[in-house]
Amino acid sequence: MEEPSSSELAEKIGLKTRAQMPFYDLIIIGGGPAGLAAAVYGASEGLSTLLIERQAPGGQAGMSSNIENYLGFPSGLTGSNLARRAVAQAIRFGAEILTPQEAVGIRVDGPYRIVKLRDGTEISCHVVIIACGVSYRNLDGVKGIEKLTGAGVYYGASMVDALSVKGEDVFMVGGANSAGQAAIHFAKYAKTVTLLVRGDTLNKSMSRYLIHQINETPNIRILLNSKVTEVHGENRLEFITITNTQTRQLQTVPASGLYIFIGAVPHTDAAVGLIERDANGFILTGQDLMQNGHMRPRGWTLDRQPFLLETNVPGIFAAGDVRHGSTKRVATGVGEGSIAVQLAHQYLRRV
Ligand SMILES: Cc1cc2nc3c(=O)[nH]c(=O)nc-3n(C[C@H](O)[C@H](O)[C@H](O)COP(=O)(O)OP(=O)(O)OC[C@H]3O[C@@H](n4cnc5c(N)ncnc54)[C@H](O)[C@@H]3O)c2cc1C
Repeated sequence: MEEPSSSELAEKIGLKTRAQMPFYDLIIIGGGPAGLAAAVYGASEGLSTLLIERQAPGGQAGMSSNIENYLGFPSGLTGSNLARRAVAQAIRFGAEILTPQEAVGIRVDGPYRIVKLRDGTEISCHVVIIACGVSYRNLDGVKGIEKLTGAGVYYGASMVDALSVKGEDVFMVGGANSAGQAAIHFAKYAKTVTLLVRGDTLNKSMSRYLIHQINETPNIRILLNSKVTEVHGENRLEFITITNTQTRQLQTVPASGLYIFIGAVPHTDAAVGLIERDANGFILTGQDLMQNGHMRPRGWTLDRQPFLLETNVPGIFAAGDVRHGSTKRVATGVGEGSIAVQLAHQYLRRV
C-alpha cells in the first residue's frame, strides 16, 4: 500500500472501522479505561453496544509502563496488557469495537442520539457515553523523560500517591493551583517537596491562600526561574537535573517522584455546541449542572434532575478524565464507566 490512511491500513490488517448495524442501545465514544469498562458492563448486561476509539484502545493508560495502583495486580501491569484484557473481555460479551474511527459530532433527534463519524457516516442509539479522556501538555525538552514516565515521573497526582513517597524527596512542576494543592498535600508525607516554577513569581499564577499555606509549610521549597532538563534512573526515577533559566546553573539532585502539573486538555470537540462544559472544556454532569445549586440545566425538560454522570442532554453521559471534577486515575475511570451503564439502564427504563 502506498501512503495509506489509518483507516485503509486498519481495514487491511483486519480492524473494524464500520459499524455492523445502524442502531445500538449504547454508543461509547473513547476506548480508555472508562470507555472499555462501559463496553464490558453494557454488553454483559444485554445492551447492544458499540465503542468508537480513534487511536487504539487503552487510552492514556495504554501508555503506562507499569500501573501499580490498580486493584488486584500487586506487582503492577502494563497499560497495554490491561487494554488487551479489557478489549478481549468486551468482545467476549458481544461489544463491537470500531478502531481507528473518530466521533466528530453528536446530535439529538427526539428519543434518538446520533453520532457522526469522521468518515461521514452516522449511527443512532438510545444512550451515548462520552469517555474521550484528556491529553496532558507534554513537558518538552527533558532528556530521559519518556523512559521514566510512569516510573517516578507522573502527569498529575492523586491524594493516595502521597502515601507512596513517605520520607522521600519529591518535586512538582508547575506554578498554578493544582501544583500548589498537590505540594501541600504531599508535604504531609514526603520529607521535602520542591515546587519548580519557570516564572519569577507565584503571584501571577497561584491563589494567595495557597501561597500563604506553602510559605507556612517548612518542608516545601520553591525554586523560581527553574526547569527540569533531565531525569535519571535505570528502572525508576533516581535523580533530576534542574536548570536555573537566568543563571544557566545546573544542579542534579536525588528525586523519588516528579509530578507534572502543566495542564490537561479534554477531548470534547465532538460535544461542542450540545454539551455543557466548564471554562476549561471539561464536561459538566449531575449536580455540577445545577444552576445556583438547585435549578435544572438550561433546556432541561424532564421532571427529574440529571443523574450523577448525566450531561445537560438526557441520555448522554460522561465518564472518566473528560468529566469536570474527575479523579484522573485508571480505577476511577473504570468505576465511572460502569456506573454510567447503570445510569443508562435507569434512563432507558423511563423513556
Ligand atoms: C503515562 C501515563 C501513566 C499513567 N499511569 C497511571 C497509573 O499508574 N495509575 C493510574 O491510576 N492512572 C495512571 N494514569 C492516568 C490514567 O491513565 C487515566 O486517568 C485514565 O486512562 C483515564 O481514562 P479515560 O478512559 O477517562 O480516558 P483516556 O485514557 O484518556 O481514554 C480516552 C480515549 O478516548 C479516545 N478518544 C478521544 N476523543 C475521541 C473521539 N472523538 N472519537 C473516538 N475516540 C476518542 C482517545 O483516543 C483515548 O483512547 C496515567 C496516565 C498517563 C498519561
